[in-house]
Amino acid sequence: MDTIGVNLQAVKQRIAHAAKLCGRDPADVGLIAVSKAFGADAVAAAHAHGQYAFGENYVQEAVEKITALAGVASPEAPLLRPLEWHFIGPIQSNKTRLIAEHFDWVHSIDRLKIAERLSAARLAGLAPLQVCIQVNIGDERTKSGVAAGEALALARAVAELPRLKLRGLMTVPSASADYAQQRRYFAQLRQLKNEIVSAGVALGTLSMGMSGDFEAAIVEGATLVRVGTAIFGERKKY
Ligand SMILES: *Cc1c(COP(=O)(O)O)cnc(C)c1O
Repeated sequence: MDTIGVNLQAVKQRIAHAAKLCGRDPADVGLIAVSKAFGADAVAAAHAHGQYAFGENYVQEAVEKITALAGVASPEAPLLRPLEWHFIGPIQSNKTRLIAEHFDWVHSIDRLKIAERLSAARLAGLAPLQVCIQVNIGDERTKSGVAAGEALALARAVAELPRLKLRGLMTVPSASADYAQQRRYFAQLRQLKNEIVSAGVALGTLSMGMSGDFEAAIVEGATLVRVGTAIFGERKKY
């Protein structure tokens, strides 16, 4: 088997192991393969091994891949599940139209203006854009994401937008090699999600965990993990 296939299998085993450790069903943990910096060939290789959800950070780069792979899993390959594209990077307002046109999910909503622009740009023929609110958990040095104290208000407002479907919360905590510290960050996002649900806003997704910390995220309730390096290898610098 090729390297990507071997790596995918290893990541799935790690997911299953972490889920069993805490009594969760591994099927409740979705895997997003983060393909940024890798080409359409790498995405196609992972897809051939059954991986269908892919994460991207840079709009231009992603749209090239999405366009190149648009024919995959269509009538010629009916057994493959269609590709599902997740935007996980910082969002500039002049990129919202392209994101709304090409992606299925957006994980990195951190202000209402961006959400409004995405909703306005989402075409009527497409399913609502599935979105998560990115929360800045634990560390001021990482600037992406809304402060935890502002997440409920933003969730309420996003839930009202007609062409978006609010699914949950996402976080990228500052990297820590310490398992206990990793768990503390992810536990904060889980608690915040529970508070928002208690306040009456429906959401179920916890998008958290990357190559270095996804086991801790799963133990704290992640329903989507975003894994790049452990599947595709080290990225070249942009
Ligand atoms: C790059 C990236 C990932 C994947 O990181 P790895 O450490 O390569 O697994 C996940 N989430 C976000 C938001 C990223 O930017």
